[in-house]
Amino acid sequence: MTPKIASFLAEQAPATPCLVVDVDQVELRYCELEAALPLSRIYYAVKANPATPILQRLVSLGSCFDAASWEEIEMCLQAGADASAISFGNTIKKVSAIRSAFAAGVTMFAFDSDEELDKLARHAPGARVYCRLLVENQGAEWPLSRKFGTSVEHARALMLRAQALGLDPYGLSFHVGSQQTDTGAYEAAIGRAAMLFTDLQAAGLDIRMVNLGGGFPTRYREDVPTIDRFADAIGRAMTRHFGNAIPEMIVEPGRFIVGDAGVVSAEVVLVSRRGLPNGAQDGKRWVYLDVGRFGGLAETEGESIKYQIRTPHDGSATGPVALAGPTCDGADILYERADYRLPLDLACGERVELLSTGAYVSTYCSTRFNGFAPIHEHYI
Ligand SMILES: *Cc1c(COP(=O)(O)O)cnc(C)c1O
Repeated sequence: MTPKIASFLAEQAPATPCLVVDVDQVELRYCELEAALPLSRIYYAVKANPATPILQRLVSLGSCFDAASWEEIEMCLQAGADASAISFGNTIKKVSAIRSAFAAGVTMFAFDSDEELDKLARHAPGARVYCRLLVENQGAEWPLSRKFGTSVEHARALMLRAQALGLDPYGLSFHVGSQQTDTGAYEAAIGRAAMLFTDLQAAGLDIRMVNLGGGFPTRYREDVPTIDRFADAIGRAMTRHFGNAIPEMIVEPGRFIVGDAGVVSAEVVLVSRRGLPNGAQDGKRWVYLDVGRFGGLAETEGESIKYQIRTPHDGSATGPVALAGPTCDGADILYERADYRLPLDLACGERVELLSTGAYVSTYCSTRFNGFAPIHEHYI
């Protein structure tokens, strides 16, 4: 937690549940990534947190943006981004969204199928397009890839077809999975993209860009490799495969830029020990918070993302707990198997903080499920 967030929480005691984001921390991470990967242009993945103060700060730093929908493109434009700095990175786009984006001056689009390519040729004629490759997501705690990307063979045919359809076959992209903790995932994916890149160049295509996607991790309960280690691995792989003909490089970080800039402050609603059907007592305390799976902590599904939790009693004796949200839904459990321990003194009415919750929380929050108001947001 940054000192700025700590004093905001101490002085204002804002109503819970709330997300507090330190926008200076966003800037710090952006600059860190820019320094680590000086040859890459940064397209912030807007879906990680589209709040206006974040977009405005990133615009002022010269960031580009990776948008998933026309609505996200509008948010970037309203925050002052230039249309030429926006990539429409979703491979699944409504025709109306393609048309609006193109009319607004967006000229860069992702695709991974013949059908989407046809839509682009028709509604964004001449646009720069890049094809998303399917790559391994091993090592990622929040994998993405089954839904997106295509094989090298199919991508080759698609890129040649893009040219034939009058589009500009700009480059290739991949995403190694979100919260990727293995630097080797980028090396393997770069190797795959490079093979096809070289092959398409030999076939006469004016291909000139490799988009390395996002995936760079935030520290939650466990240490993760530093951004410099990822940058080293990427630099080595690019040199190995492209020599000194390195193409334009793009990265699309989301989580890395905003993850550790945010803290969720929540209230303990209930601490209980319940009876089991056989008459015994459950050994575990159940701690229910006023924020859960439906209040924005969607990435706790499968106990994938394990947030660190601070309490007013840190340092005192702890015991195992299960953690859950406040709704009447059986799926609203945050952690049951992930070996969470919290202080034995933790009591109803106290506040706890979930750290590094700046990414993928505010937008995953449901609207009034069980009547609960959406999480409050503070950008400071
Ligand atoms: C979600 C997404 C990102 C951001 O991923 P992070 O793991 O948050 O860095 C980047 N690019 C695309 C295409 C995405 O879908």
